[in-house]
Amino acid sequence: MMREDLKVVDVRRSHLARHPVVVDCARIVSAMVGGRCDVVVFEDNRCFVVASSAPDPVLQPRHPTESELAVRDGSERFVEVAGNSSVGFVDIDGRVAGAVTAWGTEPAVRVEAWHGMARLVTSVLAATGHDASFFESAVQGLRDTVIVLSPDMEIVWVNDAVGSLLGRTPAEAIGRSAAEFVHPDDLAMTVDAISRIRQGLELFRLTVRLRGAAEDWVPVEVTGADHSLDPTLGGLVLSLRYADYESELGTTIDRVERMSKAIVSGLRDGIVATDQFGAVTVVNDVARTMFGVAADAPASSLTLDDFELLDENGRRRNLTVDSVDDGAPMESCVVSPRGEIRYVTITSTAVTDDHGDYIGTVVAFHDVTAEHLAREELRSQALHDQLTGLANRRQLETRLGELSLVSPAVDVGVCFIDLDGFKLVNDNHGHRTGDQLIGIAARRLARQLRHGDLLVRHGGDEFVALLVDVESIDVAVAAAERCLTALSEPYEIGDDRFDLTASIGVAIASSTEAHTGVLLQHADIALYAAKNRGRNRIEPFDESLAEAVSVEQHQRQLLRDALENDRFVMHFQPLVDAVSGATVGYEALARIRTEEGDVIGPPAFMESIANTGLMWDLDQTAFVLSCEAAVLLDRLSDDVVPYLACNFSAVSLTHPEFLPFIDAAIATTGADPCQIYIEITESAAFDVGPAGLATLSALSDRGFRIALDDFGTGYSSLAHLRDLPISTVKVDRSFIVQLAKHDSERAIAAAIVTLARELDLGTVAEGVETQVHEDQAQQLGFTTLQGWRYSHALSLADCLDDWNARQSG
Ligand code: GH3
Ligand code: MG
Repeated sequence: MMREDLKVVDVRRSHLARHPVVVDCARIVSAMVGGRCDVVVFEDNRCFVVASSAPDPVLQPRHPTESELAVRDGSERFVEVAGNSSVGFVDIDGRVAGAVTAWGTEPAVRVEAWHGMARLVTSVLAATGHDASFFESAVQGLRDTVIVLSPDMEIVWVNDAVGSLLGRTPAEAIGRSAAEFVHPDDLAMTVDAISRIRQGLELFRLTVRLRGAAEDWVPVEVTGADHSLDPTLGGLVLSLRYADYESELGTTIDRVERMSKAIVSGLRDGIVATDQFGAVTVVNDVARTMFGVAADAPASSLTLDDFELLDENGRRRNLTVDSVDDGAPMESCVVSPRGEIRYVTITSTAVTDDHGDYIGTVVAFHDVTAEHLAREELRSQALHDQLTGLANRRQLETRLGELSLVSPAVDVGVCFIDLDGFKLVNDNHGHRTGDQLIGIAARRLARQLRHGDLLVRHGGDEFVALLVDVESIDVAVAAAERCLTALSEPYEIGDDRFDLTASIGVAIASSTEAHTGVLLQHADIALYAAKNRGRNRIEPFDESLAEAVSVEQHQRQLLRDALENDRFVMHFQPLVDAVSGATVGYEALARIRTEEGDVIGPPAFMESIANTGLMWDLDQTAFVLSCEAAVLLDRLSDDVVPYLACNFSAVSLTHPEFLPFIDAAIATTGADPCQIYIEITESAAFDVGPAGLATLSALSDRGFRIALDDFGTGYSSLAHLRDLPISTVKVDRSFIVQLAKHDSERAIAAAIVTLARELDLGTVAEGVETQVHEDQAQQLGFTTLQGWRYSHALSLADCLDDWNARQSG
């Protein structure tokens, strides 16, 4: 029999065996005839029992009985042979397909009913035959192996594909338990899966090993569903497919690749991956943009040469997978296609397989440009001056520290440069112009230095040029000269032209001690000397300068201590009327009482505090003490009140708090401004400029009188007598002592007195020590006389006594 026929028969046979009509038929006929009844189908020379009233297993082949053979071969539908009776049933083609056989019974009276049963079986068979061929042609078209299993796992039917799966024919499988084919280790899993299918659960890709014809184990992927209730199938239908690991792996890899690609392209870091041979396998979009790689260039067309980095020295080098340490991030730069430098940290990860074998490297580029620039900006701000962009003091200290480590030691030089009178530039032209001038000066200075030298803006209008490896102080002085010349060139800002000069102190020291501060200190002392010696000059440091500075420092400390500890006092020198000889006032003069009780005068401290903040402190204290004395003198006075002359320096007159301070002092002490002369030297009046002039006018408006002190020693500008709001001019002692000896001094003094009288100003002759001085002064017409001839400066107590005595006298 052809295999195709076999299959049809198989299906029919198994179907009939489970069909309730057929099962009932055997039972009913048995009951009718009172004996055993089998329903059989014919196949070749055998027949298969598809239903039986006896407990024999169905679907077992047996030899046909004679009655069955007679039915099969003959045309009779009912045959009784040797005690057995059979009624045939036919398939849809009208061929006898099987028989319902009653064993060893008398011919039944109810043959008709029996025939009816056979017809029923015929109709079942007809339906089955139709379904089977349909089922078969559908199933046969499948590449998958389809198995129908009975509930107890017997293989009821299997399609032809089992041949290519297991190398077995369907006939070799049908009728056997599926369990025989399952690998023992997979059996429990299989049984469990089948029971799950029975419960109506879909089986999702169970993979088991089945025994092939060559006794090999074939991996099979099983899916299935329960069709037990379908009369056509009547069992579990399983679909078997060779578990193609490679293609499954391919699918998995494909999925993983897609996921990885999505992850990699979603990253904000640039990613470049290579295989174990260094060939580029992955480049994400960020890396493409970073390195200027075309978006559509396949990764495989790229090499590591396409990923160019800049090293810390700005040299270009290619990315190599071993140029980045595994794990530890490395800082580097990437030049973008537009030439911008991007700062990146590069992290490289070597990838290994399960066996630890290297299979490639993943390199990640994290763009840290923003952080880098912010850090650099902060660093730069910390080390540079904002106005000029020059190095600041901090960098100077760092550089000096570095130099101290240079071996062998070299000599280093410092030029301490300070612009002269820069305050006036600001006052007269504004800070903006001042800033621009400082900027231009910085650029000019920078051009005078050699490579390796350092130019620092030390603060305000001060610059420090640090000169490395100078052979002698002369070399440093030569550099200072270049700087001075450059700074002296005219400056043009808009339509304005400016001329600046500077003072420069120069010092050298061994690089080993440069960082100790000695070098800068020496240059500072030399600068101080350059200022004192007239400005616009260079002064090299020498020890005598240091000596002078140390004396000044001592003096400053003396004054500071005195101010803080109430040892700063005022003494008062009488001024007398030139005609009557009566005391008309006192000049308040600053003194320091030492801890030992000695009283020391201005020469011991005044010089050293000129142009320092101490001057302002001194002037304030002196004024308050003088006002208090003025109030006391006023109280002692009967009718005429002596005036008090108080000195102020140019520094104080231009101090922004000057007028508020004066007003507060008057308010607190209760002194009368009309009783007070404010004395300023002629040079101070010259120095303070227009702002100072306004201050003098404001004082005058408040009732103070103003005396121009030391007249004749400085500018001696007669125009000052006319232009300043003064009431008195004091002629310096140096003139008075010369009056009798030199005609020139006498002529000048006479001219001053005459002019003052014309302008209605009082005149004071200072330093009248002798009768001769007095006579001369009186002859010239001075209105007031002051000097040791009348009295030394008196303590406050003595002054009050003196005034008392003079009043009563
Ligand atoms: P000297 O000849 O004694 O150096 O007198 P000076 O007027 O130059 O005064 P000094 O050097 O003691 O003080 C520096 C002045 O420079 C103080 C201030 O008016 C000015 N200055 C300081 N810093 C700046 C700045 O950043 N911009 C401007 N425009 N002026 C400054
Ligand atoms: Mg200056």
